[in-house]
Amino acid sequence: MIKFDNVNKVYPNGLHALKNINLEIQQGEFVAIIGLSGAGKSTLLRTVNRMHDITDGVLTVNGQEVNNLKGKELRKFRRGIGMVFQSFNLVTRTSVVKNVLTSRVPDMPLWKSIIGLYSKEDKVVALEALDKVGILDKAYVRADQLSGGQQQRVALARTLAQNPEIILADEPVAALDPITAVQVMDDFKKINQELNMSVLINIHHVDLALKYADRVIGIKAGEIVYDGPSSEVTHDV
Ligand code: ADP
Ligand code: ADP
Repeated sequence: MIKFDNVNKVYPNGLHALKNINLEIQQGEFVAIIGLSGAGKSTLLRTVNRMHDITDGVLTVNGQEVNNLKGKELRKFRRGIGMVFQSFNLVTRTSVVKNVLTSRVPDMPLWKSIIGLYSKEDKVVALEALDKVGILDKAYVRADQLSGGQQQRVALARTLAQNPEIILADEPVAALDPITAVQVMDDFKKINQELNMSVLINIHHVDLALKYADRVIGIKAGEIVYDGPSSEVTHDV
């Protein structure tokens, strides 16, 4: 469903961040991208939903050539891809459920969602998403009253409410303590298995990558240096 064909990414300052990337990811895979800081993990992930444009090569997602999408088509495409960040990216001064609702009504200005101009159906979907990640009881709490792990679950629920086929997660547990990190990774795994969503996750903790992912991709200086089952990774990748 995601296919990189000789993809290169050169930033405007000349930095060659992705070099001849060839990669195919199937529906339902749980893939961890590992590598040192600056290796290109974030760049790779962010080309998939066109947060970054590629420089050359062909990138297709569900048969659509990503770089040709514009306007409405691009917005629709992006809605099919959930994104979770290291820093949660929540609207901290508003309730948990309203944070989740922002993904149901992406074209609605934030102030409208805050005053409640969304449908009952949207609200049901938002509450179901919170239930899936085990924090339904926090629905009406302000987001900034939650712990880091709970905030990352809200972010995950927000992407689930979008009903995406793919979830991209850029270092989602890097800001969490080790115990909470494991709990959040459990949620990713559950979602991957129960909802058959593809999960593509950047993670610098090799141990977590090996424990949770089916497949590991190692990147070094913009090149893929390993691509295979997590069971065959040795620690010097
Ligand atoms: P990682 O996620 O593995 O830490 P990144 O994808 O963030 O790596 O970065 C890969 C390389 O591209 C690094 O050398 C980084 O400094 C560089 N880079 C990232 N973003 C930009 C940018 N907007 N402009 C120029 N260089 C960038
Ligand atoms: P994040 O943790 O959200 O990936 P980063 O700290 O890696 O954020 O990067 C923040 C922003 O700075 C991004 O937009 C990235 O593209 C840009 N950036 C990262 N490295 C460089 C660089 N060497 N030169 C220019 N921009 C960069």
